Amino acid sequence: MRQTGVLQADEPVLLIDRKRRRYLIDLKEGGEFHSHSGVLAHDDLIGRAEGETFRSTRGMVFIAVRPTITDFLLKMPRGAQVVYPKDIGPILILADIFPGARVLESGLGSGALSTGMLRAGADITGYEIRDDFEQTARENVGRFLGPDVMGRYRTEVRDVYEGIDATELDRVVLDLPEPWQVVPHAERALHRGGIFLAYTPSIIQVSQLHDAFEESRFGMAETVEVLQRGWHVQGLAVRPDHRMVAHTGFLTHARLLAE
Ligand code: SAH
Repeated sequence: MRQTGVLQADEPVLLIDRKRRRYLIDLKEGGEFHSHSGVLAHDDLIGRAEGETFRSTRGMVFIAVRPTITDFLLKMPRGAQVVYPKDIGPILILADIFPGARVLESGLGSGALSTGMLRAGADITGYEIRDDFEQTARENVGRFLGPDVMGRYRTEVRDVYEGIDATELDRVVLDLPEPWQVVPHAERALHRGGIFLAYTPSIIQVSQLHDAFEESRFGMAETVEVLQRGWHVQGLAVRPDHRMVAHTGFLTHARLLAE
């Protein structure tokens, strides 16, 4: 995906109206964006710089910019519950994702976490038990990152609880109900020093996972949760937002050690 220069056909663009409503569109030659505020021709946007304003047929003003990964993940079609950007950022650091890292990811869901790891340069083998989610994940990843990235995103419809074929992996990253079932497979699939990370909504899952580590060669296990609080900043009213997302999931990570 191009990051700079004028807006081009076949790339996603974010439109923001005066009421800060956001719309994600894929620019197409001859395409039209319809809303109750009138029609905006895609051809008006193609060839123009980001950050400009455009007027619809009914006089509504929109700003057009390229979506960031956060904009995209919050607007893309979602089937399964996704991992949110506030957790994807820390996952990239805690799982120490680097360009070329060989990662086994399961399940894929809507591909939000895949998008984050691919963007950080990972080479992913993805196991997803549901073929509809595998498709959704592939469509979302391709739509935001473009076709070139698909060579680093090999997906299979299969149950990761039954085993992992790959060996000498750098990372195993999981978002599914029973990550402890994957611990023995990950022990064989990772190289020594490799990292296992699981995202789980419930603390019961966290303790079951730590119990499984006790029976394995995984050590240095840690669990964190990430709280993010937005602030309202307007004139003299400078205070935390009244509402926040109080809970998403726990991040548990461990490293494969010697016997
Ligand atoms: N991390 C994803 C969301 C994953 S939701 C995202 O950010 O978009 C959990 C996914 O795990 C679902 O798609 C579910 O079908 C899949 N899943 C559950 N059990 C599984 C298993 N045993 N093997 C593979 N995938 C599994």
